[in-house]
Amino acid sequence: MMPAYIGLGSNLQEPIQQLRDALEAIAALPASRVTQVSCAYRSKAVGPGDQPDYLNAVICLQTDLEPATLLESLQRIELAQGRVRTIRWGPRTLDLDILLYGNERLATPTLTIPHPALARRNFVLYPLLEISGPNLLLPDGTDLGTLIARCPQGDLVKTGLRLTRDALVPGDLN
Ligand code: ATP
Ligand code: CA
Ligand code: CA
Repeated sequence: MMPAYIGLGSNLQEPIQQLRDALEAIAALPASRVTQVSCAYRSKAVGPGDQPDYLNAVICLQTDLEPATLLESLQRIELAQGRVRTIRWGPRTLDLDILLYGNERLATPTLTIPHPALARRNFVLYPLLEISGPNLLLPDGTDLGTLIARCPQGDLVKTGLRLTRDALVPGDLN
């Protein structure tokens, strides 16, 4: 199994419920097991126009699904939760990004891993730090602590809102 780190985001229609529903759907994917789940983090939207605040979280999924299959599965979950693609970086009920997939690097027209914006997004780096610690290595050899040192927390707030009902025991989601 490969550890895949997945970023979850929502700024429409009860974001915390969107994240919880997404976690449940991801935990039900075949050949996969959710092993870590961060708290929800709140931040101001960076996209166009005046948008509601975002809630973001990061999870670790141990999986045998290939990256392309994982992406398709995640996009199915986005659609099932009512995601409508309008303007780029517009508001959305659910966004699921593959941040890392083991130590792999990939660049196809539909999938780039590591996620290209990973290193400059506090709403991804801080929840990732919470679940993986600063020693997590990226494929280029940089550790997460180094990226965090370069990326201020800014207006990002750790909410204490949990995506899981109880403290997560690895393996108990499916
Ligand atoms: P950003 O990628 O900057 O966070 P976004 O999440 O709003 O923007 P989307 O509209 O959700 O962008 O996705 C556009 C396309 O990005 C997807 O259809 C998918 O093919 C592609 N993509 C490339 N790399 C990834 C990745 N690592 N995870 C998820 N989608 C990816
Ligand atoms: Ca995204
Ligand atoms: Ca996306």
